[in-house]
Amino acid sequence: MATERTLSIIKPDAVAKNVIGDIYSRFEKAGLQIVGAKMLHLSKEQAEGFYAEHAERGFFADLVSFMTSGPVMVQVLEGEGAIAKNRELMGATNPKEAAPGTIRADFASSIDANAAHGSDAPESAAREISYFFKEEELCPRG
Ligand code: GDP
Ligand code: MG
Repeated sequence: MATERTLSIIKPDAVAKNVIGDIYSRFEKAGLQIVGAKMLHLSKEQAEGFYAEHAERGFFADLVSFMTSGPVMVQVLEGEGAIAKNRELMGATNPKEAAPGTIRADFASSIDANAAHGSDAPESAAREISYFFKEEELCPRG
């Protein structure tokens, strides 16, 4: 499997629960390296742009409102099969369907407040990483 990068966001509910370190530890134990990170309080425009693919969905306004409700932790994860690995660690979008021991099973309280974001494909990973980071802000260890 190839080395990949993916964009991860610890959403406002998980930041408020003070579990950034717990979630980082899961990434590291799974063999993923954090090669860039920043804490941000997203503006409405930033959240709308990030989730533009969902603009026509009924839940879009709720999603944007939730994502701007408090600070988020945004990171680039690098490693073998990073995109799928991160999605596996996160669990299903709806925490009621998330496998036991996943981030969403452990920390999410609803389909809105579902603790984490992870890119779903190489194309979205590239777009989402460049949405938040310049290449020179990333620090791969090789
Ligand atoms: P993800 O890739 O697993 O995060 O899921 P999606 O890309 O399908 O959706 C993006 C985010 O929108 C999800 O993480 C949820 O926070 C939110 N979302 C998705 N589906 C629903 C829904 O049916 N209702 C509500 N309220 N929020 C949703
Ligand atoms: Mg998605």
